[in-house]
Amino acid sequence: MGSSLIRGKYVVCRAIDDETSEVIEDGAVFQRDGQIIEIGPYTDLKARHDPDEEMGGRDFVVIPGLVNAHHHMGLTPFQLGSLDMPLEPGIFAKWSSREVDPYLDTLWCALQMIESGITTVMHNQAMVRTPSGLDFYDSNARIVDAYEDSGMRVAFSLYNRDQHFFTSQDDEVFLESLPSALSDRARKGMSARPITLDDHLSASEKMIANKASDRTRIFISPHNVHWCSDEYLIAIKDFATRHSTGLHIHLQETAYQKTYGDEHWGVTPLAHLGDLGFLGPELSCAHGVWLTDSDIDLLAETGASICHNPSSNLRLNSGIAPINRLLERGVNVAIGIDEAGINDDNDILQEMRLAQKIHREPGVGMANPSSHRILDMATRSGARVTFFGNETGTLEVGKRADMVLLNLERISEPYLDPDTDVVDAVVYRGRGSDVDTVIVDGEVLLRGGVHTKFDRAEIAARVRESLAGPLKPDAAARARLNTDLKPYVERWFANQPLSEGSTHYRYNAR
Ligand SMILES: [Zn+2]
Repeated sequence: MGSSLIRGKYVVCRAIDDETSEVIEDGAVFQRDGQIIEIGPYTDLKARHDPDEEMGGRDFVVIPGLVNAHHHMGLTPFQLGSLDMPLEPGIFAKWSSREVDPYLDTLWCALQMIESGITTVMHNQAMVRTPSGLDFYDSNARIVDAYEDSGMRVAFSLYNRDQHFFTSQDDEVFLESLPSALSDRARKGMSARPITLDDHLSASEKMIANKASDRTRIFISPHNVHWCSDEYLIAIKDFATRHSTGLHIHLQETAYQKTYGDEHWGVTPLAHLGDLGFLGPELSCAHGVWLTDSDIDLLAETGASICHNPSSNLRLNSGIAPINRLLERGVNVAIGIDEAGINDDNDILQEMRLAQKIHREPGVGMANPSSHRILDMATRSGARVTFFGNETGTLEVGKRADMVLLNLERISEPYLDPDTDVVDAVVYRGRGSDVDTVIVDGEVLLRGGVHTKFDRAEIAARVRESLAGPLKPDAAARARLNTDLKPYVERWFANQPLSEGSTHYRYNAR
C-alpha cells in the first residue's frame, strides 16, 4: 500500500472536551500501509520519514474521517418524487414504489458521501422482495459490494418487521376498516410474499460469512420497537449476541411511537426494550426524538447510543431530539443523514452545522453545543456506534489512517479573523465543496476533489439510464396501491390522541 505524509496548517487529532481539541499547528500525519505511525510537527516528520507521497500543505486542515451514523438509500425520496411528509404516511409515498438498482444507487451515494468527507457509514437496509427477482442476499450483497468497491467503511444492517404494516393497530383491524376492494388489494400485496424472521436471520448470517473486506461490519436491525413482536426482538438480540455484532434500531422517532408504548406496555418503547434485555453498548438507536428523562437515564446506564438526524427530524415533522439533555448525561451521540440531509445532497458538514444550531436553547447561559462537541459526535462517537472505534474516529498513532483534507483557504475566503479556532472555522463554514482529499486506511479515495476509483459523471449517467422509462408493471401496481392507501393511513394517524408531556427545550411560548 505504501506510505504518505499528510500535512496541514492544522492537524485536528481529536476533540478533547467542549472547549478544546488536540490540534498541531503546521503538523503532519505519517502513515504506512494504512496505519498511523507518527503525528507531529511537519518539519520533524519530514526529517524522519521518507514517504512515497506527500499530500496537503499550509492551505489545508486535516481532520479525522467523518462518520454518517444512520443512513438508508442513495437517491433521496425527493429525487424519487416525494415531498417531505410525516414518517407514517411517508412510507406510502411515491418514492417507495420505484425499484432502483441497489449497486448503482449505493455507489452514487458513496461517491457523494466521500465528497463531503465521510469515510464510514451506518447503512440500514429495508428487506424487500424486488420485482427483478433478486433474493434478499443477492440484492443486499450488491449494496455491500458497492461500498467495498468505493473504499468506504460500512456497518451494514438489514431491517425488517413483523407487525403494524399500515398503522399502529392490528393490521387486520385496519384492513377491515377499508373499502373491500382496497382491502383485498392491500391484503394480497401483503401476503403474497411475506418476509419472515428466518429470511432476516439467514440473509444476515450469510452476509457475515461472506463479507469480503475488513472495512465492512454486518449488524442486524429490527425496524422499530412497535413494528416488531417481542419474539422477533428477542431473536434479533440473540443473533447479535451469538455473532458479537451490533444492533441498530429506529427508536421513538415520532410522537405516535412514544404514545404506542404508553398505551400498549405502559412504558416507553425504550423501557420495553430494557424489559426484554435488549439494551447494551452494542445498541445504537436512530432518532430518539421523543425520549423521557428516564429514557435518557436508561441510555446512560446501559451504554446504548443515539444516532441524531436533525435534518430528517425536521423534514419528516418528527421534532427536535433532546440532544443537550443526552450529552449532559454522558450518552454517546453520533450524527447521521438518514437519506434526508437539509440540502438533499448527503453533505455531512451541513448536517453537523445544523446539529450545532438547532440545539441552541433560547436565553443567555443556555446550552449551546460547541464545535468541538459536534466534531466529536461526527467522528469518535460515530466510529464507536459502527464498531470502528478502535481503528478510527481520532487521529492517533496505531490507529488506521482515515482522514480528510479540507481547503482552509476556501473556508476562510476572503478573510477570517486569525484568532478563529480552526474547529470553529470547519464547523461554522466548512462545506462538502471544501473537501479536497479523503483517505481511508491510507488509500486516497478523493484527491483534489476528484474521485480516484470512479468517474463520477459515468456513474451519474448509469444511474440516470437505469431509471429512464416508465415504472415496470409490478412497481406501477405498488405505486397505485400506495397512493390509494395513503389517505386512509393519514386519517388514522390524524385521529390518534398523543401522549401528554412537558418539553425538554422551550423554543417559544404564547
Ligand atoms: Zn432511518
